[in-house]
Amino acid sequence: MIVGERKPIREILELLGDNTTVLVVGCGSCVTVCLSGGEREARELASILRIRGQSAREVTVERQCEKEFLLPLEKEIEPVQAVVSLACGIGVQAMSEMFSSHRVFPGLNTTFMGMPVEQGLWEEYCSGCGECVVHKYGGVCPVTRCAKSLFNGPCGGSQAGLCEVKPDRDCAWQLIYDRLKSQNRVEELLQVQPPKDWSFSRSGGHRKMSREDMLL
Ligand code: SF4
Ligand code: SF4
Repeated sequence: MIVGERKPIREILELLGDNTTVLVVGCGSCVTVCLSGGEREARELASILRIRGQSAREVTVERQCEKEFLLPLEKEIEPVQAVVSLACGIGVQAMSEMFSSHRVFPGLNTTFMGMPVEQGLWEEYCSGCGECVVHKYGGVCPVTRCAKSLFNGPCGGSQAGLCEVKPDRDCAWQLIYDRLKSQNRVEELLQVQPPKDWSFSRSGGHRKMSREDMLL
């Protein structure tokens, strides 16, 4: 899931500036699960904006990142001066494309792709590198969960199973070792992994994916 965090109210008010009629749009998917941009949070933000003197209403769609879910918003958006999207950055951009005559402000900071690991705690698990290799590492992503993205073993700085760069996080290589050990696969770590092909990653610029069998 995509994890995000709501911007501070002060920042949202600054973004809105002189725009006083506002529609807050929540998203019913990832940001609902991470408790930052769903129906409840949209209601809460609209109510805070009203207390601050704005004329604010709220609505939540199933998914802001797919335009078909945004079509029914047309009538709601037409009379307002501005929209605050509580979706991830994809949802904000989808709204901006669909309603291009309106200002659409991001109400969230999109943070990472991750997993809820306990109540109120989310952790980054994937960087979308474009060529998944987790099967070689016992299902633990070294790109994302190792602070140095190491593919051929730990850096040597780990202490008590924790990362030397971020000592409040597990060392990914400790997790990899433990997982492979539990699967009787530790000897696989002796295989030297070739350099990863980063041409599929974000570092190659804006990516696209097409499915020939689905194109019209
Ligand atoms: S290897 Fe790449 S695609 Fe797979 S989990 Fe890690 S970052 Fe994501
Ligand atoms: S301590 Fe572990 S997770 Fe941290 S950088 Fe070194 S190998 Fe990677």
